[in-house]
Amino acid sequence: MCEKENKKRYYITTAIAYASGKPHIGNTYEIIMADAIARYKRMRGYDVFFQTGTDEHGKKVEEKAKEAKMNPQAYVDQQTAVIKEIWDLMNTSYDKFVRTTDSYHKKQVQKIFEKLYDQGDIYKSEYEGWYCTPCESFWTDGQLKDGKCPDCEREVHKAKEESYFFRMSKYADQLIEHIEKHPEFIQPESRKNEMINNFLKPGLQDLCVSRTSFKWGVPVTFDEKHVIYVWIDALSNYITGLGFDCGGNHGDLYNKYWPADLHLIGKDIVRFHTIYWPILLLALNIPLPKQVFGHPWMLFGEEKISKSRGNVMYADDLVKFFGVDAIRYFVLNEMPFAQDGSITWQLVIERINSDLANVYGNLVNRTVSMVNKYFGGTLNDKREYEALDEELKQFALEIVRRVDLKMDGLRVADALEAIFELLRRCNKYIDETLPWTLAKDETKTDRLNTVLYNLLEGIRIATVLIEPFMPETAKNVFEQINTEQKSYDSVLSWGNYEISNKVTEKPAALFARIDAETKLEEVQQYLEAKVPKKMRFKDEVSIDDFAKLDIRIGKVSECKKHPKADKLLVLKVKCGTDERQIVSGIAEKYSPEQLVGKKVAFIANLAPITLRGQESKGMILTAEDEDGTLETITVSEVEDGAVVK
Ligand SMILES: [Zn+2]
Repeated sequence: MCEKENKKRYYITTAIAYASGKPHIGNTYEIIMADAIARYKRMRGYDVFFQTGTDEHGKKVEEKAKEAKMNPQAYVDQQTAVIKEIWDLMNTSYDKFVRTTDSYHKKQVQKIFEKLYDQGDIYKSEYEGWYCTPCESFWTDGQLKDGKCPDCEREVHKAKEESYFFRMSKYADQLIEHIEKHPEFIQPESRKNEMINNFLKPGLQDLCVSRTSFKWGVPVTFDEKHVIYVWIDALSNYITGLGFDCGGNHGDLYNKYWPADLHLIGKDIVRFHTIYWPILLLALNIPLPKQVFGHPWMLFGEEKISKSRGNVMYADDLVKFFGVDAIRYFVLNEMPFAQDGSITWQLVIERINSDLANVYGNLVNRTVSMVNKYFGGTLNDKREYEALDEELKQFALEIVRRVDLKMDGLRVADALEAIFELLRRCNKYIDETLPWTLAKDETKTDRLNTVLYNLLEGIRIATVLIEPFMPETAKNVFEQINTEQKSYDSVLSWGNYEISNKVTEKPAALFARIDAETKLEEVQQYLEAKVPKKMRFKDEVSIDDFAKLDIRIGKVSECKKHPKADKLLVLKVKCGTDERQIVSGIAEKYSPEQLVGKKVAFIANLAPITLRGQESKGMILTAEDEDGTLETITVSEVEDGAVVK
């Protein structure tokens, strides 16, 4: 067997995103974290399969599609495109994007349901609970809020619905045993205890796995008024995406990658993934995933900016101002292992300045500039060592090990922090060695050469490690220092930077320092412009005020251009037995011929004025929108002389 086939496999998934709206940055965190893990594993030599996708069925989608006057499939096609666009914008390297409306998925979900029914794990019964008619939802006693619907706070009544149920309790003991035997199965550990003590030990109720209250879902083949509910439909994506076949004729990907190494999910859906999903797999006699990690949430912090829009932040807006890698860095760095993180525009700017510009950008820029200035861009192999060098080397190699340990434990923020410790250590090494002082002393040339080599090597190692987190930045740095030594193996020992390589002559700043005040103002203006403008009306008037105006319909009998003003037309307007001249500023929109014969609304009792030598008795009414499109108010049936009120 060749070495390639012996590679260790790693199958990582995100939860599938619900296709009912644009994901904000909090909902985008998960795919970025999964991407960093997937890229890291690939770098470590694993054969990785990375799957994400969308959950596209259910009542909410059905309703939203109806609101948008679209059929549900067209609606989810549109929503999924929006989600995919953001995943792609964030440079995530997923191998498969699964959709629960994929025909293969739907077919397998139906087969799974049939199989479970045939083997007696699913049975038909009645669901009884508190029903809210407007919400079309059942609630349990515990869910009611002061005896009323927790969603709309209306009255509820006892009702029954025919449903299929899954015998969860049958597999509970088997699952408890599995969880206890595999302490790594549920992460973080606090969630494991919660699942066992709060849900499994008190006894599981049978799970309602079908619905009749909406149609947009996968129908139960043998009872078509039922659609299969989210538990079986959505969770199965992790196997159907790989080509799982309920009849046993699995696709290659399934044979190769299942069981999953990691389901990365939000902490709010840990129960579904560590109780419902494994029990479903146990019933199907399929091996369980190795690990489920419920990550904390990225919350929106308090800030003054953009109140009108709320403080919801979107990846595309953030990227517009700061670039993809800065945002990847921010969310990965800011989210601790088990506690929620938070994001504000201000915080993003602070982090870019303090970490990316000052630490990483500054180190690369100073080093490359000095290599150019003192050695014309290429170092040589003459060395003069000091104890400090060994310390830097050992520190770097220690960081390589630490990053690996942290990534194994899914402590992504800690891994990233460790890499920045190395970058900070390199900056400190510059302060300790003072290269610009060495440069003044001719006898110190070899020492200077050694110092700069160590800096390039430190940058190289940190950049290899940082690539899974910030791929484009790493590419940029590799180009600036001009190295081909980008593999993980190349950072397991010190000294692999190619001595004879020439660094770039014109180093560009990796991350520019941002002036917070100016940038926040720019952001504010941009966000305000995205909010639909509030309609503003003039001050209130009384009906008597309005009644003072005599608005009539008049028929344009003659019309010509004003002899002295391009913008004005001079109209003869017939109004019953009256005929008068009105000057109107509509020459840019209408030619005189277009108006003759039209019946237009005008103010008949406006005090007469003279406009560039022509008398005007009244005013033609027009409407003008925001784009500057202008029209006269015209009628067709009503005769001239008619009153407008
Ligand atoms: Zn309700």
